[in-house]
Order: sequence, then structure tokens, then C-alpha cells
Amino acid sequence: MLGRMEGKYDVVVIGGGPAGMGAALGARDSGSERVLILDREPDPGGILLQCIHSGFGLHYFKEELTGPEYAERFLENVIDQEVDLLSNSYVSGISYDSSGSKGVHVMNEKYGLSTVETKSVVLSMGCRERTRGAIRIPGTRPSGIITAGLAQKFVNMKGVLPGKRVAILGSGDIGLIMARRLVLEGCEVVGVFEIMPYSNGLTRNVVQCLEDFEIPLHLSTTVAYIHGKDRVEKITVAPVDEKLKPDMNRAWDIPCDTLLLSIGLIPENELSQSLGIKLDLLTGGPQVNSTLETSMPGVFTCGNVLHVHDLVDFVTRESLLAGQFAGEWAQGVRRPNDNIRLLPGNNVHYCVPHSLSPEREHTIYMRCQKPMKPCRLHIGDLKQKKLRFVVPAEMIMVKVKPELLEKFRGDTLRIDILPAEEKTD
Ligand SMILES: Cc1cc2nc3c(=O)[nH]c(=O)nc-3n(C[C@H](O)[C@H](O)[C@H](O)COP(=O)(O)OP(=O)(O)OC[C@H]3O[C@@H](n4cnc5c(N)ncnc54)[C@H](O)[C@@H]3O)c2cc1C
Repeated sequence: MLGRMEGKYDVVVIGGGPAGMGAALGARDSGSERVLILDREPDPGGILLQCIHSGFGLHYFKEELTGPEYAERFLENVIDQEVDLLSNSYVSGISYDSSGSKGVHVMNEKYGLSTVETKSVVLSMGCRERTRGAIRIPGTRPSGIITAGLAQKFVNMKGVLPGKRVAILGSGDIGLIMARRLVLEGCEVVGVFEIMPYSNGLTRNVVQCLEDFEIPLHLSTTVAYIHGKDRVEKITVAPVDEKLKPDMNRAWDIPCDTLLLSIGLIPENELSQSLGIKLDLLTGGPQVNSTLETSMPGVFTCGNVLHVHDLVDFVTRESLLAGQFAGEWAQGVRRPNDNIRLLPGNNVHYCVPHSLSPEREHTIYMRCQKPMKPCRLHIGDLKQKKLRFVVPAEMIMVKVKPELLEKFRGDTLRIDILPAEEKTD
């Protein structure tokens, strides 16, 4: 029931975005009776609520939905499954005792500051955007510099435009989607500037959001200076060399009143850190075993707080699994420890989970470091998969069968992405 929290729980899920709702449903599927979702916002749905464009659910539902439609489908299930859900509830910490029982500390207007007792926890707090401070753009500090996701919230949920003449730094998906959105709302988008020689967004977004609207994408180019006293007046942009250093001799000025930043997302990991959970420096999220359990027994994780996903459909798949395992844990099921460590090799930026067990089939999620085409994914010497192309913006997934893993028991399994013609050693 919405707006309810009562007694002790089997599983408490922190964050009511698609990951949190998927995890709660997975926990109910596993047979856990008492499941609670806590979310700090007034409505569940997470980032999906501000994504009013279509493009969600193509893999999971085989149809194209908007973000709120996708969220609605899960919310209906969550209510049907009698999961308790409490919004306007900020989780400030988690404590645990020697028996393994956990206390989730939550602030809510109705319940005040309280502690909910639970057997297992799923962390699904999503991620947040990098701001100007993260990349230290030189210049003055006028108003008119905001992250693309915040601009999306202003436009789609509050009906407020961030400015009239807009430049966008970074070609992540949120920036691309906002470029189109702002043009449709009557703004002039002067260009998207990307420091890397390739776009950091999905190919479909480059085509549908920039090319279809004739918005220029300047690759290997960055914003080198911001000008303006009270409000942004112009930016200086410059091409970069191979060390990503701006070449000021070839720089030019662009008048604009707004600069949107779409320069990356960071898992929202304050809670994980305060618990002393081991993090992966490459994903920014927790290290997890093949049941998506963190280094803290009984604390599981999924969605963007684990690693930043491009498609919500994959968030759903991952979170149903995390919830399933968290639910089993609450019922006393302890899976054997994983005994195969995964190692990202050539052109593999990271892989999740961090270890595998030969007892089950697994899906490994990974991202490459740089674009390559055509290429081959090598899972040790177990399996090869031909890929037409890989780009850092698009997650790669591969399934591995348990019988293949047997010979790697107690060992390391290295994953490489190599040009199609090269062979592994
Ligand atoms: C602009 C944009 C466009 C996108 N476009 C697409 C698309 O076209 N197609 C597609 O498939 N995917 C798209 N995605 C990706 C998809 O929306 C995300 O991958 C997905 O929403 C991540 O789900 P999540 O539950 O992990 O995180 P979120 O949706 O961010 O949910 C996290 C929730 O946790 C809550 N929370 C955080 N900390 C706390 C706390 N301490 N206490 C209580 N609650 C807390 C937050 O309030 C939030 O509700 C897009 C994403 C963005 C940002």
C-alpha cells in the first residue's frame, strides 16, 4: 500500500526508481512476505518521471514507452504485490548488529526519524550528474550554467525554460535529448561540444536528437572559457589535441545565455560508503558478487547506483535478480561463495558482477574503453562473440553457461575486446 511502513521487514529497498521497484518485485517473487520501498521524492519512479520522451521498454516490453509509462507499469505491479511503499522518506544511514539484522534510518514527515528493522537491504539510489566543479572549466561564475538533467526537470516537470540560446557541453544521452527538447520548445541550440573524438551518447540519440534537427556536434572540442558577469554571455570553445588539451590558437567565441552540462553521471554512493562497502573505482559503485550482494553480507544493489546504465530495460533485468537474491537471503538461503574472479582486459573498461560461480548461468555487463569495429568479445578461452561495433556509450552484455565455467573454478577469467582479426594469447 502507498504511504505505509509498519513493523519489521524481510527486505527494505532504498530508492523507488525502476531499479527499486524491480528489486521489490524480485523479492516478492522469491517468496519474501514483507517488502518495503523507501524513496525521498514525493512520487516513486525515479528519473523516469522527468523523461517524457519515448524510447523506454523496447527490450523488456517489446514496445516503445515514455519514462512515466514505463514506471507506471511497475508501480501497478508493486501495488498488486502488496509491497509497502513510503515516499518523501530520506534514508540517512544503515546500522547492523552481530546477528545480521539491519536497521534502516529514515526521515519522514509522518513517522519522524525512525529505524526500520530488516533482514536484507537493496541499495538502488540511482546516480547524480557531474557539475562544473568536476571538470574545472575556467572563467567567471555567472548564472545560466546547469546540468542537463536539471534542465530536463525544469522543462518537463516545472514548465520553465533554462534560457534562450543554449550551448551543450558533453554528448551524453541527457544532453542529446535536451538539445532536441529545447529546440522543440523554441530555444536556439548553438551546438553540442564533446571533448572525445566520439559521442558519449547512444547512436540512436545522435541521429534522432541532433542530426534530425541539424544541431551541430563538434567532436574533439571543449568549452575553454565561460564569460559573463551575472548571466552567461558567451563561451570560448576550442579543439583539443590528442592529450585533450585545448588549442587556444584555433578557439572561437559563441554568444549564448545558457550552458548545459552533460559530462557524466556518478553513482549516488554516500550510503554505501558510510557502510564501509568496497567500491569499484571504475564504476564508482559497489563491488558485487554474482548474486549482486555487496561486501556487506545481506546488502544487495542494482541499477545506476551499481553502474550507470544506458537503457532502463537492463536496469529492470538486473534489479529483478538483485531483489530475488535479497529475498532468498532474508529467508536464510546462503549461496556458495563465488570462486571465479572477473578481470577486465583489453578495451574493457569494467565488468559487473566482479565474480562468478560455476553453479549458475550469469549475465555479465560491461563497457568498452574506446570505439572498435568490427571486433570480437573473448570470455577467457570459453566463448567468443562477434560484435559489429562497440562504443563506450553502449553497454555490452553476454550470457555465460555454468558448464563452461567449471574449469575456471578458483581462477581468474579475463575478458577482452579485440579487433575481429586478432586472436587471444
Ligand atoms: C535524461 C535521461 C534520459 C534517459 N533516456 C532513456 C531512454 O530513452 N531509454 C531508456 O531505456 N533509458 C533511458 N534513461 C536511463 C534510465 O532512465 C535509467 O537508467 C534508470 O532510470 C535508472 O534507474 P535507477 O532506479 O537505478 O535510478 P533512478 O531512476 O535515479 O532512481 C533512484 C531513486 O532513488 C531515490 N533515492 C536516492 N537516494 C535516496 C535516499 N538516500 N533515500 C531515499 N531515496 C533515495 C531517488 O529519489 C530516486 O527516486 C535515461 C536517463 C536519463 C537521466
